[in-house]
Amino acid sequence: MSQEINEFHQYSIDRTDEFWAEQAKLIHWNSDFDQVLDYSRPPFTKWFLNGKTNLCFNAIDRHLKDRSKQNAIVYVSTETNTEFAISYQELYDEVNRFAALLKKKQVGKGDRVLIYMPMIPEAVYAMLACARIGAIHSVVFGGFASASLAQRVDDCVPKVMITADAGMRGGRIIPYKGLVDEALSISEQPPAHVILVKRGLVEQLDWNEERDIDYREAVKALDIEEVGIEWLESNEPSYILYTSGTTGKPKGVQRDTGGHAVALAASMKHIYDARAGETIFTTSDIGWVVGHSYIVYAPLIMGMTTILYEGLPTTPDPGIWWSLIEKHKVNVLFSSPTAIRVLKKQDSKYIDNYSLASLKHLFLAGEPLDESTHSWISNAIKKPVHDHFWQTETGWPVLTPMPGIEKTPVKYGSPSFPAYGYNLKVLRESDASEADANEKGLVSIVPPLPPGCMSTVWGDDERFVNTYFSTFESTLVYSTFDWGIRDQDGYHFILGRTDDVINVAGHRLGTREIEEAIQNNGNIAEVAVVGVEDALKGQMPIAFVVRKSHGDDGTAMSEQHRKEIMKQVDQSLGAIARPKTIYFVSMLPKTRSGKLLRRSIQAIAEGRDPGDLTTLEDLAAIEEIIKVTKP
Ligand code: AMP
Repeated sequence: MSQEINEFHQYSIDRTDEFWAEQAKLIHWNSDFDQVLDYSRPPFTKWFLNGKTNLCFNAIDRHLKDRSKQNAIVYVSTETNTEFAISYQELYDEVNRFAALLKKKQVGKGDRVLIYMPMIPEAVYAMLACARIGAIHSVVFGGFASASLAQRVDDCVPKVMITADAGMRGGRIIPYKGLVDEALSISEQPPAHVILVKRGLVEQLDWNEERDIDYREAVKALDIEEVGIEWLESNEPSYILYTSGTTGKPKGVQRDTGGHAVALAASMKHIYDARAGETIFTTSDIGWVVGHSYIVYAPLIMGMTTILYEGLPTTPDPGIWWSLIEKHKVNVLFSSPTAIRVLKKQDSKYIDNYSLASLKHLFLAGEPLDESTHSWISNAIKKPVHDHFWQTETGWPVLTPMPGIEKTPVKYGSPSFPAYGYNLKVLRESDASEADANEKGLVSIVPPLPPGCMSTVWGDDERFVNTYFSTFESTLVYSTFDWGIRDQDGYHFILGRTDDVINVAGHRLGTREIEEAIQNNGNIAEVAVVGVEDALKGQMPIAFVVRKSHGDDGTAMSEQHRKEIMKQVDQSLGAIARPKTIYFVSMLPKTRSGKLLRRSIQAIAEGRDPGDLTTLEDLAAIEEIIKVTKP
């Protein structure tokens, strides 16, 4: 680790109060906090005690003096061919109107509002309107089906729900209103009202006169258009976000107010190297944590312009993102490895056609970034590309380069160093002792968790403690559920989830390690490795490989390619990690946020039911796995 980053990090751990009191100056406080940290009830953490602030004020009102005409949001939908900008003043007006409407429907401080929206500006207005009046929003990703939606409704019991007639993806209309109706028909505690934004995508809407409210009509009929700020004590909740839900009952990650605002503001400065007046393009969805933090709150708190994009990375052609970067002079781009792998399959002229002069950094997160994708995109855009690691639970990066503090060399496959505030340790599973350099262990965080991390599981403190803090009996640490190593230079490497471990003849192997080894083969776009039951060795890895050129190259060549891959694994990791079978497929089953549905693949390969597929991006990917693995 470089000296400057090391010192900054050490200072944040040794002199926590002083460090965070300094960062707290990045936001507006209506009244000052009287204590930086309260850790009297471990592992629960309170930040900036008795300080009063408001996310919406920090995101909009405080910028009006200097930036009222600056674009706050640039909205681009390649699904509906729409593009327009919203200034900070316009955002203020829209959010106030939305807040007034919520108030009229009796929504106040502490009430929950469930937002189930496509990527349209009204979704952002709704989030900020909730923040303005102290209501707690829970944005549910539009890809969730009605049963998942109902489950979330019953967990957070919203007073009002906000939706739209439909979303669009790849030219297909996704009828949100219909899904909401279905969800509410099976929900045990449906909200009194559903506010609906009509996009004109669905002609015939089933309308429930008592429950449903047409957003535009209702806003027109308002007699008040401005709503005062509800100042919240720093630890009062701002939002709930349910985690991916690939297994079990989804957990409502609860975030506070003051710590959240401070953490995001600090991350924009130190990690993303971004400044007020600059433009950021985060290609996620508001339904995911990346969208909450880096499409909405952080850029606006910082006084930046944020690009809100509805559409695929490849339509109308694979140059679309690069064209937006040129046109809107984007300074920071935030995306996912999956998206980059999609683009990697395309002709590089789609990048070369555009000037990326404004772009300073590309940040990638959410899943392992393999070396070949990392080096390909670095060469293609000729800009620093940063892998960084974080979770819904943490809300902002845990392991990351920090170019805002110092530019450090890239090591492929590594999300670099622990961010300031995180007392991160790689611990031995056997006894929670600290692993040596290059020794695999559990990536853990010694509490208190820094500002911005989850405060608890909504409505279930016990689950918070039991899920995240009970890996070791001997010591209280937060588990990321990821394997990792720290090398001799302080760079960290994530080796996959602890819950995806493969045990081959008593040897524990991370699926990610095998994937990395396979990925090094030149002709491979993507790979997924899962462990399947084996009568002799307990478990054996099998691999599903997407080739870069996936025309029919005949069985002989496939056989040749299989052999090459096996050899590659033998060479990188040893024969113990050699996949039992390699299947060539045209795509991998993933959630809409790019998470591989490893457990579903594993279940199919073992002849079991794949489980909950509601978050699946494309059903055809699962069908292909079923087909190729059929005995
Ligand atoms: P989520 O909360 O859905 O964002 O998922 C968090 C998980 O995604 C982490 O626990 C990791 O397993 C994985 N993850 C996120 N970022 C990275 C990264 N840069 N490298 C490897 N894995 C990552």
